[in-house]
Amino acid sequence: MKKDTIGRRDALKRALTVLGAATVAPQLLAACGSESSGGLSCTDTTGLSAAEVSTRQSQAYADSSADPNKKCVDCTFFTAGQAGACGTCSVIRGPIHPDGTCNLFARRS
Ligand code: SF4
Repeated sequence: MKKDTIGRRDALKRALTVLGAATVAPQLLAACGSESSGGLSCTDTTGLSAAEVSTRQSQAYADSSADPNKKCVDCTFFTAGQAGACGTCSVIRGPIHPDGTCNLFARRS
């Protein structure tokens, strides 16, 4: 006859697996620049050189533009990412928000 209960060791293993997935998943989503609980964020500069981070800062890159006519999505240097994900820029390294902006904005013709 087969028992319907699981042992303490198996129960503990399963609980730790569930807890581990719940802890790691949000970190992975944030690291890849995907949608997180607070919306799309394209500020993770992990992997960029100090010079590349400095360029983002000196050109005042920001995830949102106060001027609706100067958004990255309308800039000639912007390449869109997948839906809901950050894009890229040919002059500013790192993740780029479609609604972002910087001092180098050049309207796409
Ligand atoms: S140059 Fe600036 S405004 Fe244009 S896509 Fe790159 S970060 Fe956005």
